[in-house]
Amino acid sequence: MFNSYLTCTNFRFFIWGFSSSTATVALTLVVIAVISGTTLANVISDASKLLTAANDTTAHARCTTSAVGSAEALVSNLFAAINTAKCELTNASQWPADFADEALREGLEKYDFVIVGAGTAGSVVASRLTENPRIKVLLVEAGEDPPIESEIFTLSSTLHHSPYTWTDFGEPNPNCCQGMQQHRCYWPRGKMVGGSSSMSGSIFLLGNKEDFDRWRLLGCDKWSWEEMKFLYEKALKASQHEVVDKPVGTVVLNQFDHLEEHNELAQLVLNASSELGLRYISDLSDGTIVGYTDAIPANIEKGRRMSVAKTYLGQVSRTRPNLHVIKKAMVTKILFSSDNSRAVGVEFILRNRHRLKVAAMSEVLLAAGAINSPKLLLQSGIGPSEHLKSLRINQIADLPVGNNLHDHGMLPLILKFGREINLPSSMAEPQSVADYFLRQTGPLAASISIMGFINTNASNSSQYPDLHLVSHTIVPAGAADSFKFLQLRDEIVAGISSAAGNKSLLQIYGSLLRPRSRGKVRLRSADPQAPPLIYNNYATEPADQLTLLRYVRFVQRMCTTAAFRNYGLQLLHVPIEECDRLPYDSDDYWMCYIKYLYIGAWHPVGTCRMGAYTDSHAVVDQRLRVRGVNGLRLVDASIMPEITSGNTNGPTTLIAEKAAVMIEDDWKEELT
Ligand SMILES: Cc1cc2nc3c(=O)[nH]c(=O)nc-3n(C[C@H](O)[C@H](O)[C@H](O)COP(=O)(O)OP(=O)(O)OC[C@H]3O[C@@H](n4cnc5c(N)ncnc54)[C@H](O)[C@@H]3O)c2cc1C
Repeated sequence: MFNSYLTCTNFRFFIWGFSSSTATVALTLVVIAVISGTTLANVISDASKLLTAANDTTAHARCTTSAVGSAEALVSNLFAAINTAKCELTNASQWPADFADEALREGLEKYDFVIVGAGTAGSVVASRLTENPRIKVLLVEAGEDPPIESEIFTLSSTLHHSPYTWTDFGEPNPNCCQGMQQHRCYWPRGKMVGGSSSMSGSIFLLGNKEDFDRWRLLGCDKWSWEEMKFLYEKALKASQHEVVDKPVGTVVLNQFDHLEEHNELAQLVLNASSELGLRYISDLSDGTIVGYTDAIPANIEKGRRMSVAKTYLGQVSRTRPNLHVIKKAMVTKILFSSDNSRAVGVEFILRNRHRLKVAAMSEVLLAAGAINSPKLLLQSGIGPSEHLKSLRINQIADLPVGNNLHDHGMLPLILKFGREINLPSSMAEPQSVADYFLRQTGPLAASISIMGFINTNASNSSQYPDLHLVSHTIVPAGAADSFKFLQLRDEIVAGISSAAGNKSLLQIYGSLLRPRSRGKVRLRSADPQAPPLIYNNYATEPADQLTLLRYVRFVQRMCTTAAFRNYGLQLLHVPIEECDRLPYDSDDYWMCYIKYLYIGAWHPVGTCRMGAYTDSHAVVDQRLRVRGVNGLRLVDASIMPEITSGNTNGPTTLIAEKAAVMIEDDWKEELT
């Protein structure tokens, strides 16, 4: 056992633990580095010093005065309590049991439904369908249970490059993501039970009423805001109706905890927005949101993540013999009947070595997310015929699979404080760590989150905003390296750091609520293990660039408010060689900036678009059935014809709720 404080050049480490294994220490260093806003490079340069200290088992005995042992015992108890609390934060019983060993031993029976992917949508659909004990479901998930860092939602960014993530990069595109490493946009998604919702920011929004009116105009007249609201109420209230031995899924919503020290920043931003005529939004679920708020609903409870995978799936699965879940199982192919007219099951690779097949008597339901669902369809022969032909994949159906890829994207704008502001407490402080693990309070359990919805193109009274402003968080002086988390290139981060000098920064991100630019997903090769080709095309449409330009001008207007002027807040000029050849602050300059710094917002949708029978761009019909193929449905974020106005997890949850109702309805005669 050891414990030690080490003061490094620009930050302080506090290490606790009972194992001095190199792996444990290394992991601790990386996590603390990320949450301290320091770089891995700093950490690595200090690592040998730290590891030496960590391995020094006499470190705890360095006191210069003598002791009788009781003080040492108290300290040991504290460390033991924190370590135990850390391990107990999450445990296997929160998640479904893994049916894999039994499947390997006994073989797989036939199921009514086989669901691919236990992310947001897969968890909801599996949970709802198996409320009926006569429906047998197998849920197949490529990942495993989420790690502890998923439970502590404030540490979720440390999962972005972990084994719990699909770590795909977009294809290089000279018109976007030029400021990112290798000039490529990054598309992380969760590869674990809960999928992306196990690594998300946990914000839960529904979107705007008009989003669904637009879906209707696009031919999806069976979908409406009223129905989404109805499903939302049902999802929230489910827990009130449940019987203890028959729990049902439920969306758990609470607002982020704000610490006292957040108030100054919240007031500053809300005062500025109010000066610009924007109202305070008290209810983000009313479907007509324009304004600013710090009251943000999230899937959290007492500092812990409450993903739908936990509340819909984990909570119910162990009481339902009709639901089996297999983890570490990557589906590689959909299987079809001999005449290719019906999906009859899937093939998957279990634990990287066992190739298994399972039969679906009613339907195969794809919930692998907006990148992997189209990938799986393409691998299975459903997609644009030219593309399939080029890879010698036998065609089952010629459909525009993989097209219509879009995402809100986000453009960081960085402002520099002219005077001091209350800084957020460091999550890595010993007190913060103890508060979280012993009581689930403090900075690790809280989040300052302020967001704005504005209409850049019309008066503030319009109820259909086109821009989402998120984050509004402080980067303390000297911590600009934390921008590396966004995959920005080293010279850009270094430029931000030197332009910041010894001042703290305010970061604001602008996301397009209705992006026009579209990309696509294709296969790199016919090998199912190969990562997909992702052509993201962020903000390549002039309309998107103009909205982003208006966002820049809006933030500049914020800088003219009394609230911002009082703190001396001004836009930081981020040095970018190509853009700096243009006159600073000209429209052309900002177009260049957009090309460099408009990056992914982790909200991919639209690649298996829903539409009317007559819609040649549609992959699925309004009941989410793949056109021209029986027994195959998409139930995830890929079906959105257009992205909703706000983060996508809420709408995906409701899409899955509606899918479950439609599936039960379509099969009610056979399954009763
Ligand atoms: C970093 C990050 C932060 C985010 N923050 C927010 C937020 O704060 N609020 C919000 O509303 N939204 C957020 N989102 C977006 C939100 O999480 C997604 O919109 C939502 O999870 C999509 O649900 P899905 O079911 O379509 O896909 P996912 O949740 O991604 O689930 C897909 C599942 O399928 C599995 N899978 C994929 N391929 C296969 C295969 N071949 N075989 C077996 N299994 C497979 C995956 O492992 C995964 O578990 C965030 C996303 C990310 C990545």
